[in-house]
Amino acid sequence: MSTFFTPGPAALYPTVEAHYAEAFRQNIGSISHRSAAFRKIYQHADEQLRILFGLPKETAVLFTGSATEIWERAIMNTVEHESFHLVNGSFSKKFYDFSKELHKFAHAMHKPFGEGFDASEVEVPEYAELICCTANETSSGVQMKAAEIHKIKKANKDKLMMVDMVSSAPYTNLDFNLVDSAMFSVQKAFGMPAGLGVWLANEKMLEKSERMKLHEGIVGTYHSLPSLWENYKKFETPETPNVMGIYVLGKVAEDFNKVGVDAMRKETDRKAKALYDFATKSADFEIFVENPNHRSATVVVLNCKGLAGDVIKQVQAKSDMILGSGYGKMKETQIRIANFPAVNYDQVQALIATLGSL
Ligand SMILES: *Cc1c(COP(=O)(O)O)cnc(C)c1O
Repeated sequence: MSTFFTPGPAALYPTVEAHYAEAFRQNIGSISHRSAAFRKIYQHADEQLRILFGLPKETAVLFTGSATEIWERAIMNTVEHESFHLVNGSFSKKFYDFSKELHKFAHAMHKPFGEGFDASEVEVPEYAELICCTANETSSGVQMKAAEIHKIKKANKDKLMMVDMVSSAPYTNLDFNLVDSAMFSVQKAFGMPAGLGVWLANEKMLEKSERMKLHEGIVGTYHSLPSLWENYKKFETPETPNVMGIYVLGKVAEDFNKVGVDAMRKETDRKAKALYDFATKSADFEIFVENPNHRSATVVVLNCKGLAGDVIKQVQAKSDMILGSGYGKMKETQIRIANFPAVNYDQVQALIATLGSL
């Protein structure tokens, strides 16, 4: 079997296949999403994600089709006029672009590809209603530490804060008593097949959406915050959701909680250090992100001396390991290595040995 180091879709978490098999055994693909059986599945996922992320009772766990969808929903539901975005790569830029496409006044602070943000240099425009930041810019391997995100919110208490943690959850240790909202999709660090977005949003987000709706703002239909929230109160969803995905997500979150999220974060750091130490010593690879504070623990991006495409082909031929290619223009010169929980320390060491032997 191939080992996937791709940053999404990514390697499946080792328990996922058995959870899906059990879901089929229990007919979860066929049960009604208005049944007690489904409500139990939603409730279980909710309980496990609350433990994993330390969610306060004001924060709801809502399900959508993807994380991309949540960019749109968050803007539609909480930005009446102005949003503010920290943009330093393709994903953070899409969040910003969505706001413009939805005819909002979108402000942005930009950084070159491969650079990150520190709270001390961020100035949030006075009338911005929603601050949008990306905990891990998957395209460039730049992370923003939770502590920096928290500082921005503390300096802007009157504004809502939304964090894209798609390629870093549950590594990013957010304080949900501060951060109003965050989101992820399951095919990255949760190691599941794609097709489910998870939106964590607090009551302040809901209240904003309800106010906008009252003043005839368009907050969307079935996946507006009021609609999602109303259904969530009974552990239901407005539409027929990805029931299998919600079931398996609850199980995977339970598996993560058994390991312990702090232990998982430490292990992520240990594997990331091994990869970065290798690149520091290697003559064939070089760490792309210069500032060590901004280097991602979950997506390691390396410059290649040779053609990145050849590296990817050789690693696959030699060890049946699949690397991520560089994003967009970086395709020819960079490789991206996902350091998600699904790949263990020994697999990372095996990859390092292969890269060192090319
Ligand atoms: C993958 C990714 C997304 C989009 O996720 P989808 O599940 O494809 O909608 C958004 N933000 C970041 C940082 C990502 O890595």
